[in-house]
Amino acid sequence: MKIMPNTLDRQFFMHQAEYEQKALEVLRSGWYVLGKEAAEFEKEFAAYIGAKHCVGLGNGLDALILAFRALGIGEGDEVIVQGNAYIACVMGITINGASPIFVEPDEYNNIDADKIEEKITDKTKAILAVHLYGQASNMEKIKAIADKNKLCLVEDCAQSHGACFNGKMTGTFGDIGCFSFYPSKNLGCFGDGGAIVTDSEALAEKIKVYRNYGSEKRYHNMVVGINSRLDEIQAGFLRVKLKYLEEYNTERNSICQRYLKEINNPDIELPKVRKNATTIWHQFVIRTKYREQLIEYLKSNDIYTIVHYPIPPHLSKAYEYLKMQPGSLPITERYAREVLSLPLYNGMTNEEINYVINCVNNFKAGDQ
Ligand SMILES: *Cc1c(COP(=O)(O)O)cnc(C)c1O
Repeated sequence: MKIMPNTLDRQFFMHQAEYEQKALEVLRSGWYVLGKEAAEFEKEFAAYIGAKHCVGLGNGLDALILAFRALGIGEGDEVIVQGNAYIACVMGITINGASPIFVEPDEYNNIDADKIEEKITDKTKAILAVHLYGQASNMEKIKAIADKNKLCLVEDCAQSHGACFNGKMTGTFGDIGCFSFYPSKNLGCFGDGGAIVTDSEALAEKIKVYRNYGSEKRYHNMVVGINSRLDEIQAGFLRVKLKYLEEYNTERNSICQRYLKEINNPDIELPKVRKNATTIWHQFVIRTKYREQLIEYLKSNDIYTIVHYPIPPHLSKAYEYLKMQPGSLPITERYAREVLSLPLYNGMTNEEINYVINCVNNFKAGDQ
């Protein structure tokens, strides 16, 4: 049996007729960018998240870039973010000219809220909370720190569509919540897509202007914007998929509950879920000192895995200019060496789940 890390077509085939019908509807409508589908999706997604406004965008990176731009964060400003973030989180900050200030992650792979305040300086303008792998960060503490220090709070929800902290949706704690709808995300389209959510009409309006060349009215360009529009066909697909998001998240949860119960290999540390937080299991991320051996062992059994992420942003070539040395973020760097995402996708069969569990349990470090 061959098992890939992700098998996206399974999800498509579950509701194939609806997607195909939607595609035809949009193709025949004669309107392809920022039309009825995008407007309806914005309304439906804002309602689902519990935010006043949603603005559809071209992708998740643009959501981050435009969130910081709308908040006026740029050159000379510092933004606090976890060291083990995805590279896009950091690029969203630096493309605006601001500097990332890295904080080590906690045992739940999110920013360690107890280590934020020591990094705040008079240049700090915002905290970016990344709800990594689907699990909500400690928003109670993070929000209190942001409020106390008068910092903007941006949430990266690219991996947390539907995850909550204290029963409140991620994306609704800060000034702006940023989403990606890249195909592999829990709410993914069949191409690129993204959005921001916010309760602030002013911020939503600003981002609407930025996404369309800085124009409020056609050919009346108020600011230097970008082109980052959600196209109609992707918005249409997202409207179909949004109806099933809870169902898809529940299915992933039941797969992960089996992993949690049935994987019992002393060389493997299973993920933990924070009290008061929910996870939508964007990834099921284990840690092991024997990662490279485990990857090879699984591969020899035709099971393929991915590392999210092997090179932390501060040690990537792109951020050489920050002049951070290996060892400067020891927990982040250990996670980068030890994390591994097990196969997880909607439509995963019991046979496939059993096979992964058995192989992982049969792995013996140093014994090949
Ligand atoms: C996917 C992702 C992004 C970027 O989204 P794109 O749509 O690929 O630009 C940003 N942040 C996180 C945490 C992500 O997982």
